[in-house]
Amino acid sequence: MLFPAPLRLCARICFPALLREIRPFGRVAINFLIEHQCPQCGGPIVLEETDRLFTCEFCRVRSFLVQRGSFQYVFADKAPGGQELLFFPYWRFKGMFFACTPAGVKHKFMDLSYQAVETNRLPVSVGLRSQALKLRFVTPKTEGRFLPPSVSLTQVMEMFDQRFSSGLPKPIVHQTHIGESLSLIYAPFYLDGKLHDAVLNRPVPGISKDEAEALFVDAGKPRKHIQFLPTLCPSCGWDLTGKRDSLVLQCRNCDTAWQGGKSGLQQIPFAHLPLDAEPLVFMPFWRVRAEVSDLALDTYADLVKVANLPRAVQQGWDKIGFRFWAPAFKVRPQTFIRLLTSITLAQPKEEPEKRLPKGSIHPVNLPITEAIESLKINLATFMKPRRRVLSLLPEVDIRAKSFMLVYVPFVEKHHDLVHPVFQAAINKNQLRLSNNL
Ligand SMILES: [Zn+2]
Ligand SMILES: [Zn+2]
Repeated sequence: MLFPAPLRLCARICFPALLREIRPFGRVAINFLIEHQCPQCGGPIVLEETDRLFTCEFCRVRSFLVQRGSFQYVFADKAPGGQELLFFPYWRFKGMFFACTPAGVKHKFMDLSYQAVETNRLPVSVGLRSQALKLRFVTPKTEGRFLPPSVSLTQVMEMFDQRFSSGLPKPIVHQTHIGESLSLIYAPFYLDGKLHDAVLNRPVPGISKDEAEALFVDAGKPRKHIQFLPTLCPSCGWDLTGKRDSLVLQCRNCDTAWQGGKSGLQQIPFAHLPLDAEPLVFMPFWRVRAEVSDLALDTYADLVKVANLPRAVQQGWDKIGFRFWAPAFKVRPQTFIRLLTSITLAQPKEEPEKRLPKGSIHPVNLPITEAIESLKINLATFMKPRRRVLSLLPEVDIRAKSFMLVYVPFVEKHHDLVHPVFQAAINKNQLRLSNNL
């Protein structure tokens, strides 16, 4: 079918022209509120964007929210009854950007949105109004027609990467995003003679009825993307425990850990490091074994050479396997990098104990996929000399082979959580504010 000329979708996005149009949601990260129904009793629930585990206040049943692909939301509308809603998609990205430059690893936290179907007739981003509004999950029951995205996430992320890297020293030898929350946000419209914005309930200027009909011609049913799972241990039937934003739930009865997978809950390997101190908070880290091309980095002895550590290689160090470490919890980008480097360089050598620790556990709210995304950045932070990083990083292939969730004990002090051996500290206040990153 043919679109009218101004609405024809370009094969390629014209980056420079549109870059100016991208609007971040504001200086602070926004955590949306989502209205939904309890999957057990249908009672109304209000979730924060980062909530995964919740208890229904009507039937007291607990549910665990698992996503397939990106979360999809719609804005609540004020359309008059009887109008069919037409939903226009926006990609929304919230997370940390990292770039390896000649001046070191640069980072920034950004919260951005952009049209998932290109048109110059509707706003290019969701804009600030999203702060004030409640969202709902898109479900098969959501009435209306949904326009499927035609701008790919890769295209949009390329544009966001450009925005992040435009002011940085060049060349940039590697770029990535971590801790990302990716979602599709659908803005509601309806046709009543003219195209109306259904949030503001007023006509959209600058678009004719014919153009609007053509724009939404491909709109149809949404895809399924969320699932609610019961919180019973698949292995022993005990109630699983976790915090509201936990991606990993624990069974205190049979000592197992579970995350959401394609076919329900999936068991994951975990352990904790012991520490003889009190009071302790166990912070989750992903420990990743990976194959590194073009570089010998298989053992602790290799690490001492690659990072040019000021210590003499001792006997047996060539028998200790090297592992990458990364925080499994959200924290500001500079702290994320600092922790990842200090634990990776420390290479905890005692064998972790394969059971849950006694004591308080911080929730896992960064999935293993994000730790895998961080591997090259991790290498870039400790490899010496710097010019070697710049020449090696574009070429090197780091392939994750296996992983384990390891709870690392930190001693709770007045302002900070401190690990006495790994020289790592986390500011408690900053950690509390990191929940909605
Ligand atoms: Zn309920
Ligand atoms: Zn169990």
